[in-house]
Amino acid sequence: MPKAVYPGSFDPVTKGHLDLIMRASRIFEQVIVGVLENKAKMPLFSAEERVKMLEEVLSDCDNVRVLSFEGLLTDFVHMVGADTVLRGLRGVSDFDYESQMAAVNQDLGSVETIFMMAEPEYSYISSSAVRELASYGKDVSRYVPCTVSDKIQEKIKKIQEKECVHYEQPH
Ligand code: ADP
Repeated sequence: MPKAVYPGSFDPVTKGHLDLIMRASRIFEQVIVGVLENKAKMPLFSAEERVKMLEEVLSDCDNVRVLSFEGLLTDFVHMVGADTVLRGLRGVSDFDYESQMAAVNQDLGSVETIFMMAEPEYSYISSSAVRELASYGKDVSRYVPCTVSDKIQEKIKKIQEKECVHYEQPH
């Protein structure tokens, strides 16, 4: 199959995402990881930081590209010359939302969605759980690549230091 876009927030990229990308890279000629900027969701990492982390961990995969995008997914899919979206399913709980999105993307831009099941050993990992655990000082290196785990710790430390300064010096 020629080209698929794997869209998401990747805030941050987890071992579950990576496993899916590696498996997809053996099926598709090219996989484009589309990092949704999503400023309204106040992501932990900026889109540039998320793209950089993904590029670092995927540097050995010749047929995988990482790009950020804003706006409608179907526009991005057409812009990069693809017509297929790839999404991961961790279980039935993902299915409701994903089937709705797939129908909208089909209707809006004739974009097909292909689903791949998460590996059972990664199926309970989510970026939001990783962020939550890290904010309580827990080690998340089982869930994310080690370069990413270092960056999460740095980021959380910076945020907590900033909050501390605000708390100590109220206006
Ligand atoms: P979104 O904000 O669009 O849900 P995510 O970054 O959370 O984006 O996820 C991007 C894609 O990766 C989605 O299709 C999601 O279902 C899938 N995904 C998330 N976590 C895992 C995992 N542990 N294993 C496999 N796929 C996953």
